[in-house]
Amino acid sequence: MKDSYDLLVIGGGPGGALAARTAATAGYSVLLVEKRPAPGAPVRCAEGIGKDALAEFVKPDSRFISAEVTGAELVAPDGVSMMLSSEMAGSKVGYILDRKFFDRELVWQAAEAGADVMVKTRASAPILSGGAVKGAVLEYCGSRKKVHADLTIAADGVESKFSRWCGIDTTVPVREIMSAAQYLMTDITIDPSTTVFFFGNTIAPEGYLWIFPKGNRTANVGIGISGKKSGPGNRAKDYLDRFVAGKFPNGKTIECIVGGVPVCRPLESTVMDGLMVIGDAARVVDPMTGGGIYNAMFTGRLAAEVGMKAISDGSCTREGLMPYDEGWRKSPLGKSIERNWHIKEKFITLPDAKLNAIIHSAKALDLRDFSTISLVKEIIKRNPLLLADLAGLMASIG
Ligand SMILES: Cc1cc2nc3c(=O)[nH]c(=O)nc-3n(C[C@H](O)[C@H](O)[C@H](O)COP(=O)(O)OP(=O)(O)OC[C@H]3O[C@@H](n4cnc5c(N)ncnc54)[C@H](O)[C@@H]3O)c2cc1C
Repeated sequence: MKDSYDLLVIGGGPGGALAARTAATAGYSVLLVEKRPAPGAPVRCAEGIGKDALAEFVKPDSRFISAEVTGAELVAPDGVSMMLSSEMAGSKVGYILDRKFFDRELVWQAAEAGADVMVKTRASAPILSGGAVKGAVLEYCGSRKKVHADLTIAADGVESKFSRWCGIDTTVPVREIMSAAQYLMTDITIDPSTTVFFFGNTIAPEGYLWIFPKGNRTANVGIGISGKKSGPGNRAKDYLDRFVAGKFPNGKTIECIVGGVPVCRPLESTVMDGLMVIGDAARVVDPMTGGGIYNAMFTGRLAAEVGMKAISDGSCTREGLMPYDEGWRKSPLGKSIERNWHIKEKFITLPDAKLNAIIHSAKALDLRDFSTISLVKEIIKRNPLLLADLAGLMASIG
């Protein structure tokens, strides 16, 4: 580890790894620091990603793909279900990764491209000068070291503290933190080619429960509920335990995780002098699904691309870094985050009877055109009583 770099990346998840790999490949000096002993472990993810989304950043490889899924099943609160085939389900089908290997592979690629990597190394404070970020204090096995950088990227995930220490407001309202719990279960009977999503206020209030296959008899079985619905006896894990006891009474749990997913709007600003914020730290998760692997990689790569120019021009100011902030907001990703936030805000207010009505009518549709807008229009046509609930949503998604 040197004393100074062009770029310091804090966090070795998919976002940080992509940022480091992009800048290192272009010949910039890069240090990536990860506080855990190994990237990707313990896994805090259901590990689903669309095929095209993955291929945009890395060549698919069986070393880090556990399963390929070709359909998605949506189950209404009353148990009625509808199937989406791969052409219709879009990002809901694709691969179920093995994040322990996937995250390690991305960090390995960054190292291979020339980035220095330090694991078990925590950024504990920013170096600030005249209000600008100039690097970070790093802690490694009891020792402390200051590392200076022209540009720092905060890729430190949902619990991100770094940008807050620098003065950015990163608060997420409790109701917009999805409280999640997940078991890696084996010896269970599942369809290994289909992801399953369960909806309903009894099963997963203001969220959903998922089964993501990782093999013939193995799956990630997890749940996300609104933080405000969580309480004694009704935490995400309690809902999950009730579901598992009924659905997979003889299944074996070989891994158990809990975590949070920010389903709020993104940070108001993802840049300041000397700093860019990406991935979960920037709150760019899809508010509808809680998916954020692609979003982290997308913002990581874009931040590095904009950052490299700013480093070369000697203009790592807020203004010089602003094309990153504007770039992801104007991108299809940024627009879908905004649109899906509005959809999420509406859907979490729907009682089970209306969720039933939506899935029943969607089941009867010819879903060759599975765009959100056409789906909502069709559902309103078939359920005039839902008009009041969904009209505002139509206005917001245009
Ligand atoms: C239960 C659950 C299920 C999910 N399922 C899916 C899914 O199926 N599909 C999907 O797309 N997304 C899913 N997500 C979301 C997805 O996991 C995240 O959006 C994604 O990992 C974000 O990547 P990231 O690089 O921004 O952050 P992370 O992957 O969280 O990486 C951040 C890294 O920064 C490190 N770090 C933190 N602070 C410091 C510090 N001070 N110094 C050094 N290192 C630090 C952390 O140790 C961590 O490794 C799920 C999340 C949860 C909780």
